[in-house]
Amino acid sequence: MARSVLKFGGTSVADLERILHVADIVAARARAGEKIAVIVSAMSGETNKLVSLSRGAAGEDLQDGDFSDEYDVVVASGEQVTSGLLALSLRRRGVRARSWLGWQMKMMTREGHGSARIDRFDYDSGLAEAIDGGEVAVIAGFQGISENGRVATLGRGGSDTTAVAVAAALKADCCDIYTDVDGVYTTDPRIVPNAKRLEKVSYEEMLEMASLGAKVLQTRSVELAMNHKVPVRVLSSFAAPGDDNPGTWVCSEEEIVEKQVVNGVTYSRDEAKITLLGMEDKPGMSARLFALMAREGVNVDMIVQANARGEGRANMVFTCTSADAMKARGVLEKHRDEGLYEDIDVTSDVAKVSVIGVGMKSHAGVAETMFDALFKKNINIDVIATSEIKISVLIDADYTELAVRALHTAFDLDVT
Ligand code: ADP
Ligand code: ASP
Ligand code: MG
Repeated sequence: MARSVLKFGGTSVADLERILHVADIVAARARAGEKIAVIVSAMSGETNKLVSLSRGAAGEDLQDGDFSDEYDVVVASGEQVTSGLLALSLRRRGVRARSWLGWQMKMMTREGHGSARIDRFDYDSGLAEAIDGGEVAVIAGFQGISENGRVATLGRGGSDTTAVAVAAALKADCCDIYTDVDGVYTTDPRIVPNAKRLEKVSYEEMLEMASLGAKVLQTRSVELAMNHKVPVRVLSSFAAPGDDNPGTWVCSEEEIVEKQVVNGVTYSRDEAKITLLGMEDKPGMSARLFALMAREGVNVDMIVQANARGEGRANMVFTCTSADAMKARGVLEKHRDEGLYEDIDVTSDVAKVSVIGVGMKSHAGVAETMFDALFKKNINIDVIATSEIKISVLIDADYTELAVRALHTAFDLDVT
């Protein structure tokens, strides 16, 4: 029995007209005999509105513990609305359907609130039976229930992860992520209009692309898909049922015959650079510094240490998200007097631009091409980080788009 999981993001359910269009797509597939679970996001803009309402209500003083559990109650509500509206629209088309909220389907989460992780998804909720019995399950994405019975949300973009988790649990034949672009592109098509749609992209590459800024899929959803070998496809919700809409398959590397050296260029502006000048150059200083960061929950990304001019001194540069940088500065200022460092500088005027491709594993010269393309545009590289299948550079945020376009051209990714 073919079980299918379909997910529709915010723009795809932005208003009633779009929801009715989604109902047409789902109804056509249900009539063709597929057993369907549909995951919906909140209407576009709705979650942002709910986030700022929660912040407004909480004021400046509430700490995380007092804030995030009720924040989740508020922001999870956007998906409740769309799940009900889509279920109604399907019934209007004569398709049996009902909505499922996180707590009703026992989507159990762990690791607190705001960006909880899915722990397990209990099977005794009746969801699988309902689907197999021919009723479309319209699932509110992004939400689950914590160990102590409270509403929890999965982090921004988390409906993607709900979809993959449901597909894995149901052993679905496909997990179709319908969105406002018709696939995964070599870079964000909003920045480079002649970006290319990829027919296939490996889990590994997609994971790097998502975590380095391509927000088309939430990083955790790709991680989950890779671990459970869920076949994911990204495709357009704007096409009509029956239109040619091949999308992009996210699949194992072995299924990709022609491996490109570079398959994607990404950017992230949500970066901050922290420079510590005059750290004592002796064993244990880095351990002390990053223990402090870990304790504050600061997720450190790129790290560079270099000897300073002064005797026995070193400078340390590291990056993290802009939000984490505030926390990092706060705790570092407190430790300034203990001789950890002499001076600190924090800036958010930086962006991380990356090139990604599995072919890099077996090709030399990628760094040279990348650095040369940036040099030709007179873009200065601040920090560099590499892994087996990616190279990232930190640059001045003002040059983000210029860098992305230059790299896209340098690696022959432009549609001609
Ligand atoms: P949804 O609301 O459907 O979840 P998102 O806004 O989260 O959609 O993700 C889709 C957006 O991701 C696209 O509109 C596009 O601008 C952006 N995007 C960034 N990088 C890429 C990429 N490499 N390929 C496709 N889309 C990308
Ligand atoms: N509505 C949530 C958000 O905007 C979850 C999602 O759309 O995936 O982040
Ligand atoms: Mg999204």
